[in-house]
Amino acid sequence: MYQKVSTNLNFVDREKETKKFWEENDIFRKSMENRKEGPTYTFYDGPPTANGKPHIGHVLTRVIKDMIPRYRTMKGYMVPRKAGWDTHGLPVELEVEKLLGLNGKEQIEEYGMEPFIKKCKESVWKYKGMWEDFSGTVGFWADMENPYVTYDDNFIESEWWALKEIWNKGLLYKGFKIVPYCPRCGTPLSSAEVSQGYKAVKERSAIVRFKAVGEDAYFLAWTTTPWTLPSNVALCVNPDETYVKVKAADGYTYYMAQALLDTVLGRLATEDKPAYEILETYKGKDLERREYEPLYACAGECAEKQHKKGFFITCDNYVTMTDGTGIVHIAPAFGEDDARVGRDYDLPFVQFVDGKGCLTAETPYAGKFVKDADKDVLVDLDKEGKLFDAPKFEHEYPHCWRCDTPLIYYARESWYIKETAVRDDLIRNNNTVNWIPESIGKGRFGNWLENIQDWAISRNRYWGTPLNIWECEGCGHQECIGSRDELEKRSGNPAAQTVELHRPYIDEITMVCPDCGKTMKRVPEVIDCWFDSGAMPFAQHHYPFENKEIFEQQFPAQFISEAVDQTRGWFHSLMAESTLLFNKAPYENVIVLGHVQDENGQ
Ligand SMILES: [Zn+2]
Ligand SMILES: [Zn+2]
Repeated sequence: MYQKVSTNLNFVDREKETKKFWEENDIFRKSMENRKEGPTYTFYDGPPTANGKPHIGHVLTRVIKDMIPRYRTMKGYMVPRKAGWDTHGLPVELEVEKLLGLNGKEQIEEYGMEPFIKKCKESVWKYKGMWEDFSGTVGFWADMENPYVTYDDNFIESEWWALKEIWNKGLLYKGFKIVPYCPRCGTPLSSAEVSQGYKAVKERSAIVRFKAVGEDAYFLAWTTTPWTLPSNVALCVNPDETYVKVKAADGYTYYMAQALLDTVLGRLATEDKPAYEILETYKGKDLERREYEPLYACAGECAEKQHKKGFFITCDNYVTMTDGTGIVHIAPAFGEDDARVGRDYDLPFVQFVDGKGCLTAETPYAGKFVKDADKDVLVDLDKEGKLFDAPKFEHEYPHCWRCDTPLIYYARESWYIKETAVRDDLIRNNNTVNWIPESIGKGRFGNWLENIQDWAISRNRYWGTPLNIWECEGCGHQECIGSRDELEKRSGNPAAQTVELHRPYIDEITMVCPDCGKTMKRVPEVIDCWFDSGAMPFAQHHYPFENKEIFEQQFPAQFISEAVDQTRGWFHSLMAESTLLFNKAPYENVIVLGHVQDENGQ
């Protein structure tokens, strides 16, 4: 029955022979068929991005992904393993943009959303053949003939069901948050994406004179982003630190932190004159609510329109004595700390930058990209005698990992899943998982879950699962739609049963607002494609619309395996959705793999 193992070292030929035998005799299918009655051992295959090429790292994952299921098969288990393809998202759109010679959202909309979407759908299959050959060559068995595809309408309908479940629990909401934002791509980035793009840059920072109201003195404040100064609405000091009022050698009277006096003012000293003379000393808290004159008239006007008081000193512990002057400029639209201070003090909200990263018409710098406006701001302030200094400043600044544009921190409306509300469930479910190595599950992943933030799931793009929320133009009433049936019922439009569940087609379906009778339209957002891959346990079976039994038999997975970079990716999205929907871990055993470098060290 067994062939004698040959002693020659011609492994490639031997592999090819085995592969041929498997193919000709349909061994994979038979291995499942023969064990139909056996116990089930489920493996979930994390879907690779179909429009990316397989690389050396995939060899290791595919080998491990095959080895455990193969062992279980040999032990008599039926091991379902559907291959899958991750097909939505910005990487696909970017590739199509490049292909068509388009740059940015405006040009996409000019080109037309429908032809653009069609190209996206085509493009995801570019490397399908390469993936199939590759999987065959490394001996990876999976059902590649009937894969799940995340852009499939049934897959999307299952996601709609899931989102509606989450909505019904009150855990899907529209929020206003400061996000790292790429002005070229026109989309916010996740923290994982931001961490991929830090670069050291040398820029001009600004130390600015803010004129105190009612006295001939100035608050000296420092910023690394001069373009945010037209949107300034407050200054901030640390309530517990010591601040001073000094007469400086340049003739001005300044307020600033005592600890930084020499660093900032030291250069003013001359042979017969000290750099400064201390007039008074304060705790930061003493300066709270002191007023100053708006640096830019446009910000003052904007605050007035909102009937909100700004342009005074606020207190917050985030202000440090390591850089600058100990007084920080506050623009709530452009920083997380700024936004928090803005909420605490009910400051006006001034956002003089548009979605393309350009200064708006209210400012003297209309149409200028933020980083280019820096210079103009400095020149203007200098002319008006408001610039104390513009020291060069070197820091690590995040850039878009896709297009290399400097990111900005920017207030955006976004849809969130309130994961903070289920943090304890996430931790408890994670503790049921057998992680190999254990340190990833308990350490890296576990720690991250302990500090979980709400999941920003919306993307202002085109090629993705459309967010299934309809909003009234008149009164803002919102409804979440969980299925085609429900959409047909609410819209009265039979096309709801057959329409492709993508933009722009789905946006044609509108409904009537039950509150005010006006038209309700779908919100323009699509969702994070990580939600797609996290939905694969149920969406691959079109659950709960079909295949209830199969889903229940194959959930949770006994085994998954991916590289360590999936802690914030697939490991998370699976765990989050499974916890929110079933309050159960979606996987029982995980083998986490390190990274493999190719001959170029990549
Ligand atoms: Zn970008
Ligand atoms: Zn309404």
